[in-house]
Amino acid sequence: MKNFVIFQLDQLAWRALKVYGSKDSYTPNIDKLCDNGVAAEAAYSPCPLCQPSRAALWSGQYSHRNRVWSNGRNWPITPLDDSFPALGEEFKKAGYKAVHFGKKHDGGALRGFECSEEKETKIPDEDQRFPFNMDTYADKYTLDETLKFISSYSYDKPLCMVVDLINPHNICGFVGKNKGPHEPFSGTLPPLPENYEFDDIENRSTPVKYLCCSHVRQSQTVGWSDDNFREYIAAYNYYLSVADRYIGSIIDSLEHTPIKDDITYILLSDHGDNMASRGSVTKQVTLYEEVTRVPFIFSGSLVKSRGIAKGICSTLDLFPTLLSLADIKRPEGLDGVDISQIVTKGTLPEREYVTSEWFTEWGYTISPGRMIRRGNVKYIRYLEDNGEELYLLDKDPFEKKNVAKENEKLLAEMRALLDSYIKTTDDPFYSLTVKADKKWRSHKCGYQNHKGITAPEDK
Ligand code: ZN
Repeated sequence: MKNFVIFQLDQLAWRALKVYGSKDSYTPNIDKLCDNGVAAEAAYSPCPLCQPSRAALWSGQYSHRNRVWSNGRNWPITPLDDSFPALGEEFKKAGYKAVHFGKKHDGGALRGFECSEEKETKIPDEDQRFPFNMDTYADKYTLDETLKFISSYSYDKPLCMVVDLINPHNICGFVGKNKGPHEPFSGTLPPLPENYEFDDIENRSTPVKYLCCSHVRQSQTVGWSDDNFREYIAAYNYYLSVADRYIGSIIDSLEHTPIKDDITYILLSDHGDNMASRGSVTKQVTLYEEVTRVPFIFSGSLVKSRGIAKGICSTLDLFPTLLSLADIKRPEGLDGVDISQIVTKGTLPEREYVTSEWFTEWGYTISPGRMIRRGNVKYIRYLEDNGEELYLLDKDPFEKKNVAKENEKLLAEMRALLDSYIKTTDDPFYSLTVKADKKWRSHKCGYQNHKGITAPEDK
């Protein structure tokens, strides 16, 4: 019997974890998984936004193919039907107990999983500096339901269980609570990232220059001091530590079941978090490393390798990789690559490139973008004003300088590579529409110069 437990967190940045180089650790339980497992060095979210990322993950399809491009609201999506592959369905057909706890936001792609309800259990704040909101309340409900299931399940069928936690996403509510200028709390604050200062903004694409104009959380940071951004990082680490504690409880509970010696754990995230890089918070619009690159970790019984598996991959690879590990036949139409060699050899398959895409959060501003990485070269293209960016990640891992203008030959190569990907995967990118009101493209460059509220809050 091979059992699988998948932890998905919401907004977990790879740089926040010790295995990916964080000097401080707020995640002892995730660290333990990493110590007994292997982490993909550079895994990318297919579309760094909650719903598109999840729909891509569970359907194994690029967002441009399954057309779950937004979180909904002003840009509603059509839920995926039976013609799309579904990970839960494949496990269910193979005789597994396929269960899902927590955040769905899947565009219909969780078909096949028995999903628990999405409810909230209100709990008191533990630290007044870091108030809980509905995200943590939902996670508490998810934790309790998961623990109940673990202690009552008969274990007569192999298990494929997803625990979809929302934290550290509670950080979005933290920004709302602390919008505008305010006194930072007393106490030690963590350092700012190496790319906090952003002196290259004039050299970036229009949607990046005006990130504050399409992202309400960014607009709420107007007036923040350096210490306010450090306070943001402290809060982020705190909400992450809450998720880690819940993960620890679930693993402890699984240690008391008949399957305890045959569980393979996978941990990943739907997208990252800016964590004050370029003076920005949460995620949206940009395709930089902080937002689009995510943890992708394998641990437990099937995992023989340790450390970091060098190279690039996509979390779209989860679907074919899990099927391969479970000896289940791969259905037609999956866009990911089987990277199951990561658990035996500790390596990733060679691949020419990996991609990620952006469309819109809620449809208020629409500014489609694409990212393609080949080796250590990363190319970003936005439709709006034909924005192009190029980064040499070996020399500039923090993407401090867009070197598109200085590298014409490489730029042309990467442009051609993106064009070929667009053609071979039927990506409608070049025929998409940009929708950006001029008034949200008019203030002096710099997020701190933003005025006004651009879109309803994502609560
Ligand atoms: Zn703005």
